[in-house]
Amino acid sequence: MRSVDEHQRVVAGLIAPRPAATVGIVDAEGLVLAADVTAPLSLPVFDNSAMDGYAVRAEDVAGASTDNPVRLPVAEDIPAGRTDELTLAASTAARIMTGAPLPAGATAVVPVESTDAGTVTVAIRTAPKPGQHVRNAGEDVTAGTTVLRAGQLVTPAALGLAAALGIGELTVLPRQRVLVMSTGSELVSAGTELQPGQIYESNAIMLAAAVREAGAEVIATPTTSDDVAQFSAVLQRYAGQADLIITSGGVSAGAYEVVKDAFGSTTVEFVKVAMQPGMPQGAGTFGNCPIVTLPGNPVSALVSFEVFVRPALRTAMGLAHPDRPRRRAVLADHLTSPKGKRQFRRGVYDAATGTVTTYGPPASHHLRWLASANCLLEIGEDVTEMSAGGEVRLWDLSPADA
Ligand code: AMP
Ligand code: MG
Repeated sequence: MRSVDEHQRVVAGLIAPRPAATVGIVDAEGLVLAADVTAPLSLPVFDNSAMDGYAVRAEDVAGASTDNPVRLPVAEDIPAGRTDELTLAASTAARIMTGAPLPAGATAVVPVESTDAGTVTVAIRTAPKPGQHVRNAGEDVTAGTTVLRAGQLVTPAALGLAAALGIGELTVLPRQRVLVMSTGSELVSAGTELQPGQIYESNAIMLAAAVREAGAEVIATPTTSDDVAQFSAVLQRYAGQADLIITSGGVSAGAYEVVKDAFGSTTVEFVKVAMQPGMPQGAGTFGNCPIVTLPGNPVSALVSFEVFVRPALRTAMGLAHPDRPRRRAVLADHLTSPKGKRQFRRGVYDAATGTVTTYGPPASHHLRWLASANCLLEIGEDVTEMSAGGEVRLWDLSPADA
């Protein structure tokens, strides 16, 4: 049997980054920059007001106080967006709004709260320090500096900075495009009444969601029967658009194993991996496209995705944390594990107490438990039994907003 680590290496070796591409900034969100970004302009772009108030020459109002306000004529009204270039004459004030361009000659802004808010003349009740409430051009970003680095994730803030700099495109490592195929003559889609022996298709929907959660893109989620010709035709139809093909089902030891039958032993290697669930696995290429063939049992399929595909996909997209966070926790109940296999049990982890409880049976069709678990317990190959109080390693599956 192949070890989990070895199969992880095989799958990781198949999935390669796409060449860097330049995309519209909105499409870059969540991707990793493949090139540094240099500021084409300075931020702020021009000297502007940090407050709603009055632009003044500080020396004109140096003696202002509550008891002795200085009264100045209001020479201009400058809302944000005014584009003509203005100069503030000595001994005048300009009413100015936050973000509006400071008139040349003005050296400070007095907040409206420190005035009588006049529009013809204004009484200034505090003496501003020179530069007060003025945002100077370039104090945030100087044109020509590197503001974002290759390897950095395009976060909402990074996107905002690019937009503020007037940058329309970013060069990124593109999303991996994944074809998710389900196989099984028993599968029907929701909305169809089940005939005896039929079940609803769930792997493609589940794995497609997992692909997107990993940061990649799903190009299609076709289901095929266990007929090799149909399977091969569907594969042909979509494979050219994919960077990775994931199939589920049809890889174990029975008859009608459509995925195994379709590939024979040519470009896809079918192996037993020493793990539970998820023993039957396959990996290889179809044309130039990597293909990972997951087992059909839903828990096996999703756990296998977590163990083999997710980290490789994220690595290929340059994402900083390809692996789920690993934690150590104290086991709250007793468990058994098959000798020689790495077991991934569903669990509920309580961060407050640092304990974890197994959740549901180990068998690979008990999807209900996985749906409400928040972690996988990773039990080593040589462990056959663990008692409450023992320390276990777990993979934290909790989504960011859980
Ligand atoms: P297989 O690996 O094809 O032998 O499938 C193993 C088990 O998983 C069988 O009980 C299948 O009915 C079930 N299964 C396979 N594919 C799917 C799927 N896409 N959705 C739901 N169950 C599936
Ligand atoms: Mg099947």
